[in-house]
Amino acid sequence: MEIKVVKFGGSSLADANQFKKVKEIVTAEESRRYVVASAPGKRSDDDIKVTDLLYKCFELAIAKKDISEVFDKIVERYNGIIKDLDLDLSLEEELETIRAGIIHRASRDYVASRGEYLNAIIMANYLGYDFIDAESCIFFKEDGSLDTEKTNKVLSDILLEHQRAVFPGFYGCTNEGTIKTFSRGGSDITGSIVARAIHADIYENWTDVSGMLMADPRIVKNPKTIEVITYGELRELSYMGASVMHEDAIFPVKVANIPINIKNTNAPSDPGTMIVPATSISAPNIITGIAGKKGFSIINIEKDMMNAEIGFGRKVLEVLENHNVCFEHLPSGIDTMSVVISTDELRNTKYEMVAEIAKVVNADRVTVEEGIALVAVVGRSMEKAKGTACRLFTSIASKDINIKMIDQGSSERNIIIGVDEHDYQDAINAIYSEFVK
Ligand code: ADP
Ligand code: ASP
Ligand code: MG
Repeated sequence: MEIKVVKFGGSSLADANQFKKVKEIVTAEESRRYVVASAPGKRSDDDIKVTDLLYKCFELAIAKKDISEVFDKIVERYNGIIKDLDLDLSLEEELETIRAGIIHRASRDYVASRGEYLNAIIMANYLGYDFIDAESCIFFKEDGSLDTEKTNKVLSDILLEHQRAVFPGFYGCTNEGTIKTFSRGGSDITGSIVARAIHADIYENWTDVSGMLMADPRIVKNPKTIEVITYGELRELSYMGASVMHEDAIFPVKVANIPINIKNTNAPSDPGTMIVPATSISAPNIITGIAGKKGFSIINIEKDMMNAEIGFGRKVLEVLENHNVCFEHLPSGIDTMSVVISTDELRNTKYEMVAEIAKVVNADRVTVEEGIALVAVVGRSMEKAKGTACRLFTSIASKDINIKMIDQGSSERNIIIGVDEHDYQDAINAIYSEFVK
């Protein structure tokens, strides 16, 4: 029998009405046997996600302030869902344990994880499915990374004992037995882990848009939906800010070649986006999608004859390594080298690093330019299409936007450009209009 793992995001579980839609979706197909639940998300634009309320409680407790007002909002959210669904369930005991935990300085990750924990208990009760706590089957290593093999083994064994179950997303457990969360949006990863462990035929990721769009709908008006996208393309777009799915959610399903279908809880009959290992279907446009992020800085290093100096790049990168700083891109010319880094990473170490780089390579000049936005143009069809870069740069130039940096991966599947943050939205719109007809 076909098996589907279905993950519902926060907006799909924000209130009782959304729970009802979810139940209809789950029960519409026998194969939808394993459900991954997020914490309740926003009910309207000015609402607050339960996860954010929990982080707020944690901060208040650390500052030795009263958490009652914020915590009561959380209690109201869950009790409201239970009441409106008319469930024979009480979470009073769990809520009191969590309240006491926060006051007595439970860890930040434990506090945040309770959002999905409670929501999954409600969903399991509502669907009549078993509840499986992610704490018992998703494991992290000492260095904070997912213990993929242990998780897969333990989870596969547990799943054999449950025909139908609900899992809380977003968290797991360290070897010391403490709760640890993924980064924000991490319930997508939980869904992917469960899909791999049960050898699902498909991983359905249900959200509030009818699939992955060619650009962020907050920037481009009515962008087209991407019908089919490869794992590789999705990873590049999600890493660069197309936030519909967590960028690391690809890895577990990739091992098992399980396709992902992004679907809309509010429009379940829309086909959504299929994410597949590879496809011979050529994309309807040369580009598959555009994504981007603000908040980058470029360190520009200049030195005459740099090209002939052996070990130049290594010395620069060693400075970054010593400061525990990751870089995003490394475009270089003959006598110049640029390092693109997230401005947040640079915050505490900027002046020290610049001085050290200047010293270790004896540079003529080292400057830092902040306020850079990166825009990624991704597409499997770009490899074969001649003139893509020319069209891309011309479209941006025609809007009088200055390109500060260009990087093209050797896969030719993406081109990344750096522009001033003020030009970010205009650059994305210019590229979209050029390539999408
Ligand atoms: P969930 O709560 O279901 O996990 P998210 O908020 O994490 O949902 O992701 C869905 C949101 O991602 C959409 O509402 C949309 O605003 C945003 N988004 C950003 N870029 C894109 C894109 N390229 N395609 C679709 N949605 C996008
Ligand atoms: N609730 C968590 C968050 O808001 C995880 C998730 O929604 O995937 O980030
Ligand atoms: Mg999400």
